[in-house]
Order: sequence, then C-alpha cells, then structure tokens
Amino acid sequence: MEHLSYDVIIHGGWIVDGTGEPRYRADIGIIDQKIFAIGDLNVHYAAAAHLIDAHQRVVAPGFIDVHGHDDLMFVARPGLEWKTSQGVTTVIVGNCGVSAAPRPIAGNVAAALALLGDTPLFGSFSAYFAQLEAIRPMINVAALVGHANLRLSAMSDPVADPNPQEQQTMETLLDQALRAGAIGLSTGLAYAPGGNAKTAELLGLVRVAAKHGAIHTSHIRNEADDVEAAVDEVLSLGHEAGCATVISHHKCMMPANWGRTVRTLANFDGFRNQGIKAAMDVYPYNASSTILIPERSDLIEDIKITWSEPHPECAGAYLSDLAARWQCSRREAAERLTPAGAIYFAMEEADVQRVLSHPCCMVGSDGLPDDENPHPRLWGTFPRVLRKYVRQTQLLTLEHAVAKMTSLPASVFGLSGRGKVKVGMHADIVVFDPDTVQDRATWESPTLRSAGIDHVLVNGVEVHASTPPIRPGHVLKRSTSLR
Ligand SMILES: [Zn+2]
Repeated sequence: MEHLSYDVIIHGGWIVDGTGEPRYRADIGIIDQKIFAIGDLNVHYAAAAHLIDAHQRVVAPGFIDVHGHDDLMFVARPGLEWKTSQGVTTVIVGNCGVSAAPRPIAGNVAAALALLGDTPLFGSFSAYFAQLEAIRPMINVAALVGHANLRLSAMSDPVADPNPQEQQTMETLLDQALRAGAIGLSTGLAYAPGGNAKTAELLGLVRVAAKHGAIHTSHIRNEADDVEAAVDEVLSLGHEAGCATVISHHKCMMPANWGRTVRTLANFDGFRNQGIKAAMDVYPYNASSTILIPERSDLIEDIKITWSEPHPECAGAYLSDLAARWQCSRREAAERLTPAGAIYFAMEEADVQRVLSHPCCMVGSDGLPDDENPHPRLWGTFPRVLRKYVRQTQLLTLEHAVAKMTSLPASVFGLSGRGKVKVGMHADIVVFDPDTVQDRATWESPTLRSAGIDHVLVNGVEVHASTPPIRPGHVLKRSTSLR
C-alpha cells in the first residue's frame, strides 16, 4: 500500500482555522510549503520527515502582526526572536509614516525615523525588497510606504507645504514603491514632518494608493483631545479617494478623553455603513510608546524612558525620578534626554477592551525592537491577548481572537493564501497550549519570552526555538494590476 510522503505532519491537535468557526480535531499534512491535507492522516502509516505531536494543543494559522516597526531589523537582527517566540509568522512594516525606503535627501531628518533604529535606509523599495530577498527573511513581510519618507525625499524644506513639483515627486515616488510591491501608504500625522500635511497633499497621495488598489493606514493626527476629528480626517480621506483605510493603534489618551472610544467607534461604523472599507488595530496594553516628546512631560504623569542617546544609562527609569535626581523640571529632564524614547501611561483599560472587541479590529504589536528597555508589547502582544482577553477575562472566544490575528488581517491587507488553516494555503502555522499560553514580558522585565507557544512554522519550516538552515519567510508583494 502506497502512502503519501509529507514534509511535516502535525498530529492530533485542535484546529482553530482562523475563520472564527469552532475548533475541530484533525491532522495537518504539509508538502512543499503548503497545507496539502487536513483530516485523519493515518499517521502510523503515513511518512513524514518531521512529525509534530499536537495533542492537547491548538493548531492555528501563524499570527499576522499588522503593526510592526521591524523594517530594518530584517537586515540588522534577522533572527526576529521577538516575533517568532510569539507565534508571529507575518509582519506588516512601514507603519506610522516611516519606512525603510525611500531614503531622505541629504540634510533632511525626522525624529520619528528613530522608531526604525540606526540601520541605513534604502534608496527605493525595489532595492529594499532585493536586499530582503537576498538575506531571506525569517518570517513573511509586507511593507507600507511611509509618508514621512516621501516628504523627506521630495521636499527641500520637509516641514513646509509642498509646491506642485514636490507634490508630483511624492506621488511619483509612491507610485514607484507600489509598483515595486509595497502594499500601501502609511501616514504619521502626529509626527513631524507628516503632521505638516494638509488635506490636498494627503488626498493626492491616498488617490495614488487607491489607483493601485492598495491600502492607506494612519497614525492619526491626535489621540487625545481631538481624537474624534482625527479619526474622521483619515476615514474621510479614504472615503473621498475610495481607498481602504486602517486606523493604527487606536486609543484615547489622557483621563479627560477616557471613554471616547464609544464615539470614535460609532463614527467608524458610520463610515463603514457608507461603504468605505475600514479597519483598525490595537495593542493589548493601556500604555503607549514612541519617541520621547518633551511637550508631553507636562501632561502625562507616568513616563518611562525606553532609550536615550545622550543618557543611555537612563533606559528603564521614570522621568519623575530623573527630574528629582537632576533637581530640574520634568520638561527640562525630557529635553536633556532627547533624542530618546518613552512609554506613556495614559490610557484606560475599558477603551482598550472596547476597541479590541470591535469586529473590525485586528491585533498589532507596534513593538519597537531597537529600544533598549522596550514596551513589553514587543515580546508579549499575541500571547497576552490569548491569556488576558481569552482565558482570563473571556472578552473574546479563542476562535474570535485567532481570527483577529489571522484571517481578518490577511483579508484587510490583501495577503492571499495566508491567514487560514485550509488545504492549499501557505503553511504558516502556530501550535500552542491554550491553557498555559501567556506573555511574560512586563514593564520591569520587558524582554522575557512568552510561554506556551510550542511550534511556529513559516511556509512549512519550523522557526521557533531553532534557527532553520535557510530562513523561510517570503517578501509578500502586492500584485501590480492597476485598477
Ligand atoms: Zn504609530
């Protein structure tokens, strides 16, 4: 009797297939990077080069981190352990208006580029993708084009209004990047120079994205007092241009604004009802993290330093303690620390839960891998959702949570063949213990690996806890058909 010979068999697990449908018990057979069979594979007779015992375990599609800043880490630290240890098999990079390409013209700088670390940027997306393909990514990666990069590459004064020539240059650069396979445009309207952009500039760029059938994502202009207007601004752009739009890491900061997600989500639903394709993402923590912005030191009580160029020894310290030690104001201490990064404790748990449970909300880590003392979301986001919001608070069913991390992002970002455990799909798979999976990274020990993730396969090759001979990730490029 002849038997199929599989590259991998995952035996006896509970399949949570990513669609949100209830789990069921089955084996999975993988051949040539894809899921070839699901069912009773008669493992005592079938041959497999690699047999994974998944009894008492959940077998799910690999998680898709829709909000990464790992653009240059694929070059600088290609092991990406902070991703693989969580079960992440695909990441979307190029968020918040900053991306690995195009490189700014000489003399143009922006503080927000520090989110990417200090590896040199690339001149173009085709050069960036060629480099990723040459070194081979550990996990799959798809990239957005940062609006700040476009301004810094096209404008002699990147905080001015673009003249018609500069606007045309930005649109051309975006068009080239999308033709090279980038999946969309991201804006960071809360930062300079992106925040200097007015409606006409943004609409021109979002229209280029729409023409390619690409996506538009935004770190919106304001996530505090003016959050509602800021949400409406980006959704209006998407509506006007006919472009699918994602609100990144949605939140309402500062106590006076807690609870306002009730209204932002109602407005979001209003836009959806008008037919705009819109989605959002969130990280499962009630503190945010980005570069240190000294103006915030007067507004937010708890600020923790994640890195500082002039004072690297201060990573991990609280701004108030540093101000006391230096006998100066918090604002002065912040000025002394810049360029630096920080964690801001200014969100309410109820808002986090309200956003996370919205049917259009995906999970994105917003992890900052280059930070000395990072926000724990870098290492803990996905297992934290499974521990805290599935097992402990039961805000989400396991099936629902997995869908937010897999099929929903694959559909929003157009990642075909990913995000579901179905025959014919790419074999991006995570095997975990639903009873013990948990984040271990904390504010005090932010780089502790998560527990309970047993196996992580990227295109059928196991990457968790072992370095494969060849890194198995793919660069996921948007197909180039123009609308
Ligand atoms: Zn952001």
